[in-house]
Amino acid sequence: MKQVNLRAMIAIRFALLVLTVIFLISVASNILIKRQFEKYVEEKQNTQTEELAQNLSSQYDDAKDKWNLDYIHGLGMYALNEGFIIKLYDSDENVLWDAENHDMTLCHQMMNTITFRMQEERPDLDGDFVTHRFDLKQNQKVVGFLDVSYYSPYYLNENDFQFITTLNHILVAVGIVSLIGAIIMGLILANNITEPIVKTSEIAQQISNGHYDIRFHSDVRAKELQNLTEAMNQMAGSLEEQENLRKRLTSDVAHELRTPIANVSSYLEAIIEGVWEATPERLQVCYDELDRISKLVSDLERLQQVENENLNLQKTEVDLLELTKGVVRNFETKISQKNIYCLVDGTHVIALVDERKMQQVVTNLLSNAIKYSNDYEGICILVEDTGEQVVIQVKDDGPGIAKEDQKWIFERFYRTDKSRNRKTGGAGIGLAIVKTIVQAHDGQVKVESEEGHGSKFVVILPKSEKPV
Ligand code: ADP
Repeated sequence: MKQVNLRAMIAIRFALLVLTVIFLISVASNILIKRQFEKYVEEKQNTQTEELAQNLSSQYDDAKDKWNLDYIHGLGMYALNEGFIIKLYDSDENVLWDAENHDMTLCHQMMNTITFRMQEERPDLDGDFVTHRFDLKQNQKVVGFLDVSYYSPYYLNENDFQFITTLNHILVAVGIVSLIGAIIMGLILANNITEPIVKTSEIAQQISNGHYDIRFHSDVRAKELQNLTEAMNQMAGSLEEQENLRKRLTSDVAHELRTPIANVSSYLEAIIEGVWEATPERLQVCYDELDRISKLVSDLERLQQVENENLNLQKTEVDLLELTKGVVRNFETKISQKNIYCLVDGTHVIALVDERKMQQVVTNLLSNAIKYSNDYEGICILVEDTGEQVVIQVKDDGPGIAKEDQKWIFERFYRTDKSRNRKTGGAGIGLAIVKTIVQAHDGQVKVESEEGHGSKFVVILPKSEKPV
């Protein structure tokens, strides 16, 4: 398909639209005004002839049985100038005054001019000179007759044509000015619409080239365009986060593997070169390091398995308080080794969940709480029913998690620098597994923590979801 410039397309369409509207309005108003004007002219012509008849009848002096012929002559000449050819008779039909007799040349000239002009300008009228007879009366008595010849249905004089021409000129001028205005407005409108789109597509291009830090600050008022730029910024933001995470993941995995591999290689090298004797203790150290690597690999496999299995949850009705208590029992040895006080409280809430996976969630959260708690500290697990949802809280008095780490800890292999230094074990996938399982149950997990003041992990699950 042929590619068209959006800006030009909007501007042209807008201008065309305005042009069409102006054209239709001009044509309609032209037709209406013209029709109205011509109706007015026709009515004027009728009243003029009637006035003429009335005026002439008053020129008869009944007492003297005489007509004021001087005045009639003046009136006749005036009427001739206005396009009326009159012929006046007395009551016995004797001609008193005849415009044609009086000035035949002028009459014919006038008739020719009017006929020619009207047939040229308004051939559709199909007009012609007609003669209309009026009875001239005084006190109900017929005192004479008047024949008025005029161009029917009406005729337009010089001034009338001038008026119509001026009207047309004004409409054309208005049309041209509006068209120029429409083009300018169309360009402004097109610019307003396309500018953010053009910028957004430039930004999308830059993002696809790997510049994830780019952001678009627009001050457009249109909600949809604002949404588009916001969506773009959000996309850039999450891509940036993913990119950072990917980089961190690679370096984390490398970091996790580097130390045990380096240790094992140096020990084995020393043994091979005969520097060290292969005592059971030294071989045990090598074995332990290899064990760490194998745990990391099995963690990876576990995560992958959870992600795959989550598509297929085996949901049953489970008492989550009982489930939690069961998990705590599994950790009794570890809890007592660290002299931790662990409290489980709450209500017996029945929820539709995958029991094995939910055990995994509580296990991971409790295992972290134990792992990061110091000896003699306390852990509190609370199961609550909020009506629509079940809330499971796992709270410890451990070291807490820094604000900047909190949004990352649910990502795979993310471990805070502190926990890395403490060598608390784990590859940083426990919380990633928690998040995957909880989300598969349409729930959410969040952390509330402050450095030095313990951590609280909150799992919120919907209660009434039907089995799949
Ligand atoms: P790990 O195997 O390192 O425990 P997790 O995914 O379970 O991995 O946790 C990710 C990181 O979150 C941990 O490395 C740790 O820094 C932090 N974290 C998790 N739970 C706690 C907790 N209860 N107290 C303090 N930090 C925690």
